[in-house]
Amino acid sequence: MNDPAPAISSQPDVTTGDYMVSALALNGQVRAFACRTTLLCQKAQAIHQMSPVAAVALGRLMTGTLLMAEQGLKNATDTISLIIRSNGPLQGMTVVGTGHQTVRGYCYQPVVETVLKRPGKLDIGQAVGEGTLTVIKDLGLKEPYMGKVELVSGEIAEDLTYYLASSEQTPSAVGLGVLVDANGISHAGGFMVQMLPDATEETIQYLETRLGGFPEVTYWMQEGFNPDQILDLLFGDPDIQYFSHKPLSYVCTCSRERMEKNLIALGARELVDLAQDPEGVNLECHFCSNHYRFSQQQMQTLLSELIQPRPE
Ligand SMILES: [Zn+2]
Repeated sequence: MNDPAPAISSQPDVTTGDYMVSALALNGQVRAFACRTTLLCQKAQAIHQMSPVAAVALGRLMTGTLLMAEQGLKNATDTISLIIRSNGPLQGMTVVGTGHQTVRGYCYQPVVETVLKRPGKLDIGQAVGEGTLTVIKDLGLKEPYMGKVELVSGEIAEDLTYYLASSEQTPSAVGLGVLVDANGISHAGGFMVQMLPDATEETIQYLETRLGGFPEVTYWMQEGFNPDQILDLLFGDPDIQYFSHKPLSYVCTCSRERMEKNLIALGARELVDLAQDPEGVNLECHFCSNHYRFSQQQMQTLLSELIQPRPE
């Protein structure tokens, strides 16, 4: 289902705010996006109370989803969902991005043990484990577009790169970073670089060399560089052209009406069972933890509407 587009201010704060920048570089042969997502990752952390590994994994997937939304969605009402189902302690994650630069998401197991890859470096691949990545794009057409791949490493950036190459035939490089310290998430962001069809072999090799030695996004963010400056550093191209700067935010679109629709979608048999309970039904939104209570009488009303729909 499409999301309504809320009014958001159009000018982001490029010094400290969350935002997405898009650019063209290397004689128009490469398209690039970069973003800062620190505040929205902190908001997700406040909602879900995740352990560090879960917060980093979800932060990376939310950042990657926003980059893919910027690259692949055209209208404000379009949505893209990235769903990971895996056999590691996190079990998986669901993230939804929209064409108006919002994101929401959750981890199936928000509290898992911290495992380090090396001192100071969380092992996200181990926490995610083996499994699949499913991408669903709802572009307002009759059928949503769906693609599915096996996870490569569970480190997220590699998995998205593999998905883009194999499912969408778009050669890309994706960098994602979420840094946690004793106080929680301190920096988060990412970039995505895509070769355009007329990219020369020379350009491809130049970029591969630069990407090979490029430090992590969060390293640059700690040094005080913003997403524009990170693309500057990556390309070393004085003629890079920046296009839009858009604010990013964590927004949930749940409502009582949507929860009613979810209940009705369960079907009459299930609803009859639920309407038996004198305590009523308590639903929690996975994305924002809002609670929606339906009394037994409200459940019976829903049931009667299902059997005899109210006129439109
Ligand atoms: Zn919600």
